[in-house]
Amino acid sequence: MVLFFQSLAFFCKDYVNDDNISNNLNIVKIRLSIFSYLCRMTDSLLRDSFKQLIEASNNIIIVPHLNPDGDAMGASLGLNHVLKQLNKEVHVITPTAYPLFLSWMEGTAEAVNYEQNASLSVALLAKADLLIFVDFNCLKRAGKLENEILKLNVKKVMIDHHPYPDPIADVMISVPSCSSTCELIYHVINKIGWNNYVNTNAAECFYTGIMTDTGSLSYNSSNPETYRMVAGLLEKNIDKDKIHQLVFHSNSFSRMKLLGHVLGSKLFLMPEEGAAYMWLDKNELQKHNFKPGDTEGFVNYPLSIEGINISAFFMEQDDKIKCSFRSRGSFPVNKFSELHFSGGGHQNAAGGESTSSLIESVEKFITQLPIFYNKFKNNDI
Ligand code: 5GP
Ligand code: MN
Repeated sequence: MVLFFQSLAFFCKDYVNDDNISNNLNIVKIRLSIFSYLCRMTDSLLRDSFKQLIEASNNIIIVPHLNPDGDAMGASLGLNHVLKQLNKEVHVITPTAYPLFLSWMEGTAEAVNYEQNASLSVALLAKADLLIFVDFNCLKRAGKLENEILKLNVKKVMIDHHPYPDPIADVMISVPSCSSTCELIYHVINKIGWNNYVNTNAAECFYTGIMTDTGSLSYNSSNPETYRMVAGLLEKNIDKDKIHQLVFHSNSFSRMKLLGHVLGSKLFLMPEEGAAYMWLDKNELQKHNFKPGDTEGFVNYPLSIEGINISAFFMEQDDKIKCSFRSRGSFPVNKFSELHFSGGGHQNAAGGESTSSLIESVEKFITQLPIFYNKFKNNDI
């Protein structure tokens, strides 16, 4: 199929180079419409394969990425609810803990945290006849669960919206232009004809992922299709204002104090590059009674400073430094993170990690960002 698309693209290019321009533009148009028809056909083939794999399976395990966010948990739990309606035995195994501000979601209590309960996770994986990876596209993002996944000889599906996927599954549904994995899954479920299986619990989960990955529909959400999906979810009787309240207005006092501390004492600017960076060490986190998810969203705050279009946040963890990057406009933080912090993600939202010390990691950022920024300015990336 790939070969076929390559030769089709080559064929179109050939015609553009020909002399008889207007005649050939028409031919190119026809060929492009064949091309887009074939893309749609591939979509439907993928959906059919996805449907068939689910129908043929009984024990399904859904895995989101490590440190799962609203989209990863929403997609996992929402899909879990839909598959349960189809009478499947389904379990969600998270590589690490989910943030507390998502604990209200139906199904979180049953989700198994591999880090906390490796033996149960391994036992459930041993029974699985289908694995579904959601919201990640390289196995490294499954953290230590990667080793267990590699041991299994079962069919795998990936549903994700990050660019540049690794070939990690038999069926790969990858749409980087989609706002969120939750939007993509809901879209696929509708196309398959399973909308009836989306109950209110599932709809709440899917809405949460769309809301958190788009900053409450404030970015990466200008495609009318996103609003069509939101409209469909609202028809499932979800209370979107309640969800907003539960996710964004359930801060603990200590999280607010930690935010005050990082903005007040640990925020620095690099005016030449229109960049800002912040960091927190383990002592600062402990002092503020840190819980998973407490620093979620911190990296976005500097982007509200006039003239700041790049933001970085570094946080000391037990075994590594977790890095988060955000940008506005065309600066590709995913490429920067991939080059310098073994990471990736989207053009405007990426993450990575470092095994150096916290200070060394921050210094690396301060040194490397201007070099990368100049290359970006000179279109040399
Ligand atoms: P966050 O900063 O919220 O952890 O992550 C931002 C985005 O980058 C998310 O889409 C996330 O999936 C992706 N991301 C975060 N950390 C990594 C990483 O270490 N590797 C890759 N490839 N992507 C990451
Ligand atoms: Mn996502």
